[in-house]
Amino acid sequence: MKNFRGRKEKQASIAKERIEKLFSEAEDAFSKEPKLARRYVELARKISTRTNTRIPFALKRKFCKKCNAYLVPGKNARIRTKNKALIIACLECNGVSKLPLKNKAGKKAQTQKTQHL
Ligand SMILES: [Zn+2]
Repeated sequence: MKNFRGRKEKQASIAKERIEKLFSEAEDAFSKEPKLARRYVELARKISTRTNTRIPFALKRKFCKKCNAYLVPGKNARIRTKNKALIIACLECNGVSKLPLKNKAGKKAQTQKTQHL
């Protein structure tokens, strides 16, 4: 039983890594080709559903749940805070998503650029 759980956790962390990678690819692609960025978001979400891995909070605010667009505040998204929730307005499809702000998740919200060696 112990082994099984260990394997599952490992799988989850691989999935999480892949999701994070896809989002950083999306970030890179966004300025050149927004459509490609959307594709990366779609892939990341697929991995998330297939492997039952949650998309980290810091990344959840970076895409539109409705049209999968990669969102950049000031470009194609507007983000506001209201009553301890993030209100994310997607300017691509005019969809609005709400993300509850939890104290626990807040700290890790800063994404750091991965350094390529
Ligand atoms: Zn949208």
